[in-house]
Amino acid sequence: MSLVLGAIADDFTGATDLANNLVRAGMRCLQTIGVPDTPLDADDVDAVVVALKSRSCAVEQAVGDSLAALDWLQAQGARQLFFKYCSTFDSTPRGNIGPVADALLERLWATQQERLQGRQTVMVPAFPVNGRTVYQGHLFVGDRLLNDSGMQHHPLNPMSDADLVRVLAQQTPHPVGLLAHATLAKGAGAAKARLAALQGEGIRHVICDTVDEHDLDVLAETVADLALVTGGSGLGQTLPETYRRRGWLAPVGNAARLAAPSGAALVLSGSCSRATLGQAEHFLRSHEGYALDPLALADSDAQIEEALAFARERLGEATPVLIYASASPERVERTQQRLGAARAGELVERAMARLARELVGNGVGRLVVAGGETSGAVVSALGVTELRIGEQIDPGVPWTQTRVAGRAAPLSLALKSGNFGGVDFFTRAFEALGRGATS
Ligand code: ADP
Repeated sequence: MSLVLGAIADDFTGATDLANNLVRAGMRCLQTIGVPDTPLDADDVDAVVVALKSRSCAVEQAVGDSLAALDWLQAQGARQLFFKYCSTFDSTPRGNIGPVADALLERLWATQQERLQGRQTVMVPAFPVNGRTVYQGHLFVGDRLLNDSGMQHHPLNPMSDADLVRVLAQQTPHPVGLLAHATLAKGAGAAKARLAALQGEGIRHVICDTVDEHDLDVLAETVADLALVTGGSGLGQTLPETYRRRGWLAPVGNAARLAAPSGAALVLSGSCSRATLGQAEHFLRSHEGYALDPLALADSDAQIEEALAFARERLGEATPVLIYASASPERVERTQQRLGAARAGELVERAMARLARELVGNGVGRLVVAGGETSGAVVSALGVTELRIGEQIDPGVPWTQTRVAGRAAPLSLALKSGNFGGVDFFTRAFEALGRGATS
């Protein structure tokens, strides 16, 4: 069967979040880092999520990158397209959600007019299990309106209005409508009729209420035939079942199945987030670790050599080891005062990149990386361009597998954003790995 879903995500962790939900709902999923320059080289993939960095960049770049992703996904035969953004609708009056959605609709209108119902798409940001719901077009985080949830202080895209119809209307010249909960409560037939009526009024963008998981089921049935849907990762929980009902998805035993893992186990942590500090401390109670200090890294590479030697001596052992720069807020502040925040971060990222490259070359085959920026540095040092999504370790963090130069077998890789994961994440990750593997 061919590609069912092609998704364009506006950031890396958001892409993983969507991919993780799709896999858990039974779709075999690949995440690419940027737009691939070669065709998809796998026939056992139901969904591809292209991870862009288009959330906070200039509008023109976000539009250009998103259109390039769309063209590639269409060339791979994707049946439905999904523009994925954050469940808190992270954007500014200039964009990028509105302009990107408009550009995608225009491109689809030019290429697949027969499948577009009057240049209309839906906005489904809600993720009820994570407390993101929408009622009468207003976005809630838990029991607070978006503009009272802390998001009003976001450094890049402060969200000072919870009324998504109004928020989106600032980002697009086209009218914005609402599919209200009262209609959804009558079922998918009534919801489709409402979309058709809005289309008759020339409304391109429809904000969709979503109060609970059941609403996501109704919405998936309502929108599965649209050429383009947009929203958060919540909709990724329910679309696959709708595709299955339509016969678009072959039944698979376990969509999270990866090849058997192999090789030594290593954790690299450059995250100083509270959750990671707890995880590192917990891990070090029963495992060995090596601490990097940016002040020492600023003087010479001696510490990197020592860390390499430390890890190499232990690569034959079954238990994982940790190499970390993670430090308390006080210590990070002292370091930043001496070196500057950017230079301190750069030194750590450079060290982590080299450690990953050399140690994977020396036999590490199971690698956990903690920290968003740190993960970015490691992934680019290893030349990773795509990840096959496997079993979830903790919400939002799955094991993945990828091919890297210098290693014949696949590399198992888990990329954890700072605040994700339970306190025993570093140990539990390796215990969870390979449970459902093919051998
Ligand atoms: P998170 O996902 O927790 O935000 P990131 O990797 O995105 O983690 O960001 C952490 C940043 O802090 C990185 O740039 C990293 O290089 C830097 N860093 C790590 N350890 C230290 C340290 N001890 N002192 C100063 N900066 C550090």
